[in-house]
Amino acid sequence: MEGSIRSARIHEYNKPLELDNISKPAIRGDEQVLVKVGATGLCHSDLHLINGEWKDILPLNLPKTPGHEIAGWVEEVGKSVPENIVKPGDLVAVFGGWGCGSCIYCKSGDEQLCSFAKWPGLSSFDGGFSEYVLVPSYRFLVNVAGLGVHPENLAPLTDAGLTPYRAIKKVKSTLGPGKKIGIIGIGGLGSYAVQYAKILGSGSKIFALDRSNSKLELASKCGADYQINIQSTENLVDRIRTETEGKMLDVIIDCVGTDRTFYDSINILAKGGTIVVVGLFGTAAKIPIASTVLNEYRILGSLWGNYNELREVIELLKDGKIKSNTTKFNLDDVNKAINLLKDGQIVGRGVLIP
Ligand SMILES: [Zn+2]
Ligand SMILES: [Zn+2]
Repeated sequence: MEGSIRSARIHEYNKPLELDNISKPAIRGDEQVLVKVGATGLCHSDLHLINGEWKDILPLNLPKTPGHEIAGWVEEVGKSVPENIVKPGDLVAVFGGWGCGSCIYCKSGDEQLCSFAKWPGLSSFDGGFSEYVLVPSYRFLVNVAGLGVHPENLAPLTDAGLTPYRAIKKVKSTLGPGKKIGIIGIGGLGSYAVQYAKILGSGSKIFALDRSNSKLELASKCGADYQINIQSTENLVDRIRTETEGKMLDVIIDCVGTDRTFYDSINILAKGGTIVVVGLFGTAAKIPIASTVLNEYRILGSLWGNYNELREVIELLKDGKIKSNTTKFNLDDVNKAINLLKDGQIVGRGVLIP
C-alpha cells in the first residue's frame, strides 16, 4: 500500500496487539512534526493500558497505538517550525507530557502535571509502537543531532530514565555521607534509579531491593552497594537493621508502588526518612498515622519528569555518566516482548525497533 506504515495497535483490551498497515500520518498543523521512530521503550504503563485496567480513567478510541518512550528522526515539519530548533534528519527525543502550555504547571515548566496534558499512546494521540509518530508541536522535542547517542539508548530516557531522576532530585538534599537510599524494584526505572542515586546521592550507600537475582546483578553493575532479594530474605526488617547498623534507610524510591512495597518501605525507613512513590502497580495502602507522626516520615509522589529534566538526563547519557540497559525487540515481536515484561523476564528496559 502506497504511503502506508506499520503500527502495533490495541483493537480490543486484553488481547495481543495487531500489526496493521495504516496510512502515514500527515502534517495538519503548522507546529507539528512527523518523526520516523528509531526506538520506543516498553513500559509497565503500556501493560496496564493494553489490559484495559485504565479504560475508565483513560478512555481510548480503539484501535490505538501505544508507546510513550520515543526517539527517532525528524521526517517532516509544519510551516512554522523554526529550522534552528529542528529540521528533517535531526535525531530527537520525544518529551511525553504534551501540556497546554498556558496553565500554572506548564508555565512553571512542569508540563507533565498539566491537567490537559496529552501523552503519546495514552490519549487521543497514537504512540510509538509504529514506524512513524505525529508530534503536535516541536516544543515537545529535544534535538540531539550530533550528540552521538543511539535511539535505543535515548528512547527509555523519556520515561524510565526520567521518572527516577526527578524522584531522586526531590530528596537530594537529604542524602550524603552516612545516608542510605533504597531502590525498590530494579526494572526499567530501577536500573536508572541506582545510577542517579550514585550521581546525586553524594556518597550515600545504595540498597537495591528486588525479587529477581538477575535484576539485582544488574543493580550491582549499576553501582548498588547492597543487593537484597526481598523474596528470599526471611526477615527484611532484620536484614536492613543488620546491614545499616540499626539506622535503617533514609530514603526509599519505590519503583513498584503496591501496598506490599509501601508497607515494606515504612518498616525499613529511618526516623525523618522519605518514601518517594513512582510506581503505579497498586491502588491503595493505609498510612500508619502514629508511626508517621512519631518518626516524622515524609511520603512523596513523583510524576514522570519535565522537559528540562529530560535534557539533563540526556546530558548524562551523552557524557557517559549513565548507561541505558536495554533488551531490543523487532516491532514484529511486540507481543512476545509484552509477555516477557508481564512475566518479569526483561532485564533493563525492553525497546522496540520498528
Ligand atoms: Zn511509562
Ligand atoms: Zn498546562
